[in-house]
Amino acid sequence: MTKETFFLLTGRQQNGIWLARLSSRQEGNEISVKFDGRQVLSREEKYGDIVGFYHSHPPGFLAPSKRDHDTMNAWSFCFGKALLCVIAADGQLRAWIYDCSSGASVCKQADQVEIFKGRTLVAISRADCLSPDP
Ligand SMILES: [Zn+2]
Repeated sequence: MTKETFFLLTGRQQNGIWLARLSSRQEGNEISVKFDGRQVLSREEKYGDIVGFYHSHPPGFLAPSKRDHDTMNAWSFCFGKALLCVIAADGQLRAWIYDCSSGASVCKQADQVEIFKGRTLVAISRADCLSPDP
């Protein structure tokens, strides 16, 4: 079985377009991967550039788990901004946007997510994109 992998996503997001670098790779066991929450927090305090998290799942589980859901809501609330939850399984990628910044917890799936050259991630949420001027 393959081991779960985690990356911290640092970068920026604007108008529904997320641009991130995959960093701080961690490897877990077959069903879970841990990461250093304190390091994540201090990075956000220092640079304010965390846009989300990437982790892999066992085959057949391309959606966020209950724990992913709780964790993402907690981080989004803690940082006061929307965060991306990217999940890889079965050679596919999916991304969800968690936003607790306004008090309510909002979760929606991004329309597109792709990784370029193994280190740059782009995700698009069309509903949040600015519509072109008429
Ligand atoms: Zn997960």
